[in-house]
Amino acid sequence: MTDVRIDDLPVRDELRGKSPYGAPQLDVPVRLNTNENPYPLPEPLVERITERVREAARHLNRYPDRDVVELRTELARYLTKTGQYPLGPENVWAANGSNEVIQQLLQTFGGPGRTAIGFEPSYSMHALISRGTGTGWVSGPRGDDFTVDLAAAEKVIAELRPDVVFITTPNNPTGNAVPPETVLALYEAAQAAKAETAGAMVVVDEAYVEFSHGDSLLPLLEGRPHLVISRTMSKAFGAAGLRLGYLAAHPAVVDAVQLVRLPYHLSAVTQATALAALEHTDTLLKYVDQLKSERDRLVAELRAIGYEVTESDANFVQFGRFPDAHAAWQRILDRGVLVRDNGVPGWLRVTAGTPAENDAFLDAVREHLSFVG
Ligand code: PMP
Repeated sequence: MTDVRIDDLPVRDELRGKSPYGAPQLDVPVRLNTNENPYPLPEPLVERITERVREAARHLNRYPDRDVVELRTELARYLTKTGQYPLGPENVWAANGSNEVIQQLLQTFGGPGRTAIGFEPSYSMHALISRGTGTGWVSGPRGDDFTVDLAAAEKVIAELRPDVVFITTPNNPTGNAVPPETVLALYEAAQAAKAETAGAMVVVDEAYVEFSHGDSLLPLLEGRPHLVISRTMSKAFGAAGLRLGYLAAHPAVVDAVQLVRLPYHLSAVTQATALAALEHTDTLLKYVDQLKSERDRLVAELRAIGYEVTESDANFVQFGRFPDAHAAWQRILDRGVLVRDNGVPGWLRVTAGTPAENDAFLDAVREHLSFVG
């Protein structure tokens, strides 16, 4: 084949010179870099998935339920049970991971000539999916302690009048949560800034909320049709391989995203697997308490060793500060432990794993201290 590179192709200008999302997938003994749940699915659930998928396989000659009604009903039931706010299938939409949910939201409410904002450092895919959907991206500020400074955030919203506002709480990669009062104030600021049009959409990304010390912001949906809460089965449910994300919002939002979703976007196999997983919600979520206490142990032990640690409401911990975070990441990897360098200068992120994995990580960073001395 002749040597042709991306830039030799007529790719869109905004994609030139850019890199794809790329958390390394390395085969090392301890992988604590992508905020997965470390526990494999329990065997009774594996059995139930097999049964449900076998049944679905009999009908694979047909397209799946395009409106995903049974799964949306079960997701609404789960949210109602855990979120102290009643929701029905008309409030819920599901897609292949919350990344696809976010993509559908940006295709619906962003796009060329529109802008989205997030308060960075935050989940990098918000910016990347904005670019992919032709939506302008504004990097909003965070303070030195990684909290969202309300006055600064309100100012930038008033000035730039974004169409979509992302609030990630608990935030990735920093781990800290955004107080509900701040979310409410940003919602008001976003609507005020776009008052002469139909307002702005505020997307609260709650991918990690099950690990939080606080509650979900689902009750804030009451009377706020421009609010969307995005969730996933990749973290607390321990089902990252399933690729199932979902949102809760006013039914009009659910109707609106259907304007852009691909027909039959959620395969019959995915729907069957997710339904089986939801039948086992209690078993899956029992690991959450254990992971929360391991997260708290990581925070305490890292501080005891002498690291700075950002408060965490998630299943991961941001720690530093390193003169050269990438070099530190490499030295920890040399000891067989893969953590994440999110490009936040001076800081790295570690996912809470099993107690044995966390011990291996703590041993590696204790050794590492002797390097930075
Ligand atoms: N939101 C946040 C804040 C995340 O950290 C992640 C995954 N790292 C996602 C969304 C996407 O998750 P998924 O597509 O697996 O649902």
